[in-house]
Amino acid sequence: MSYEVKQLLVIFCFFVLPGIVGAWIASTKGRNTLGWFFICAFFPPTIMAIIIQSPIKEVEGHYRECPACRELQSWKLSACKYCGAAMTRAPHVHEE
Ligand SMILES: [Zn+2]
Repeated sequence: MSYEVKQLLVIFCFFVLPGIVGAWIASTKGRNTLGWFFICAFFPPTIMAIIIQSPIKEVEGHYRECPACRELQSWKLSACKYCGAAMTRAPHVHEE
């Protein structure tokens, strides 16, 4: 492998990859995917920040809102962990 190819691989592993991971985590939390891609790509430790961020909206398959207390929580919970309300309601359908 030439020096340039190795350099590209290093850039990919240490910057692009954290960017992709950060963007993916951000997307599961309804946050700005592109913004987090660049933040994590330029400064990979910020992945820790997006991991501990709470979700800001419902994201199908990841988070949904309690119909009673409006707290966001894991999609797979059958009852709200904050108020105990059943999470049977169909998730928001965003009309185009
Ligand atoms: Zn609740």
